[in-house]
Amino acid sequence: MTTKTIFEQIIDGEIPTSKIYEDDKVIVINDIAPQAPVHYLIIPKKHFPNIQEINEADLGIIAHVYRIAQIIASEQNIHDYRIIVNNGKKAGQTVFHVHFHFLAGSFFEKLIP
Ligand code: 5GP
Repeated sequence: MTTKTIFEQIIDGEIPTSKIYEDDKVIVINDIAPQAPVHYLIIPKKHFPNIQEINEADLGIIAHVYRIAQIIASEQNIHDYRIIVNNGKKAGQTVFHVHFHFLAGSFFEKLIP
């Protein structure tokens, strides 16, 4: 029986996914249930259940996540986007492997008049 989260299984290539980007530290995939026209998940490969569990020595991974977000946004000509982390069950976290939602597209017009 596996104790891996769905994202660890995706990182390990056990479950196929639509991949946007990958390097040695992160993988970027399309969210299976997009909440916006562009909805990527930027997922560190190293396993941390949530932000609170990231050791000080590993905090550089967060900078890397934002660097990859910059690069993807530039390459795709995306100027306006949101990066969201749901940290903890009551904050809406459902997969307990830390990940960053990258959201962009026309949905902003509904949120911000
Ligand atoms: P959370 O609610 O933990 O912040 O975000 C988990 C996200 O993972 C959700 O937006 C959900 O749609 C997405 N998700 C869950 N299972 C899968 C999957 O198997 N593949 C992909 N690509 N996304 C998934």
